[in-house]
Amino acid sequence: MGHLSIVKSFLEDAFLKDAFFRDTYFSIGDLLFPQTCIGCGELLTVRGAFACDLCRLEIEVINAPYCSICGNPLLTIGDGRPVCDGCVAKRPAFDAARSAFAYGGVALDAIKKFKYGGRAHLAGPLTALAFSESVCFGRNGATGDINPADYDFLVPVPLYKKRLYDRGFNQALLISREMKKRWGDDSMSINYTGLIRTRWTVPQTSLSIEERRVNVKGAFAVVGKAFYKKKVLLVDDVFTTGATVSECASVLKAAGAKKVGVFTLTRSVLK
Ligand SMILES: [Zn+2]
Ligand SMILES: [Zn+2]
Repeated sequence: MGHLSIVKSFLEDAFLKDAFFRDTYFSIGDLLFPQTCIGCGELLTVRGAFACDLCRLEIEVINAPYCSICGNPLLTIGDGRPVCDGCVAKRPAFDAARSAFAYGGVALDAIKKFKYGGRAHLAGPLTALAFSESVCFGRNGATGDINPADYDFLVPVPLYKKRLYDRGFNQALLISREMKKRWGDDSMSINYTGLIRTRWTVPQTSLSIEERRVNVKGAFAVVGKAFYKKKVLLVDDVFTTGATVSECASVLKAAGAKKVGVFTLTRSVLK
């Protein structure tokens, strides 16, 4: 290892855990290495953007009809509150899950860069896009399914401490902060200490549906009594089978939570 890279890794170790220094570090990086579109590689002129106008249009926004419980898009509208076959067969532990975008294409590239590429600042433009495009936050003056007045706490899905240390940030906490920024200081508070991950779990991406459920079983715990009789909105970046948020929801409900909603930026759409 050369002297420069020793200095670089020392600085990163020392400072990247701190949000202010990390943002500054990446801002300087943006100046030195201009941002390009995650989709097509075109040079971007808008500060903080992640995709050009054309590629952003390719991001698939989730619209009604969708299952009123798990939020998976449905092909037809039935009578009353639509519920998908999966939720009829086995009701999830959460009350309602909503996502802004389908997980694929440019949205998938953006989430990967955000989570694994160290681009923490992408939480801002991704959440902003969700608020402006997703029906779950309400559009054209209409109230959405996710209303801050309906909840007491925003709770980011926690990472295990080793993964948090390796990544330097919890993407779910950054999304929660961006949500709170948009809803204002008077909205529900963020609680990121009450729900913890108690053990290391292998990444869900490599596992089958049943393996995912087993993988996260017993991996979360509630500390203290903050959620007793409270309404909680769980936040994460991706909803795939819902195993992680379901496990979190059942732990929260066992700790007395009255209602557990879920918001994720993206979700896998099951056909
Ligand atoms: Zn592009
Ligand atoms: Zn469903």
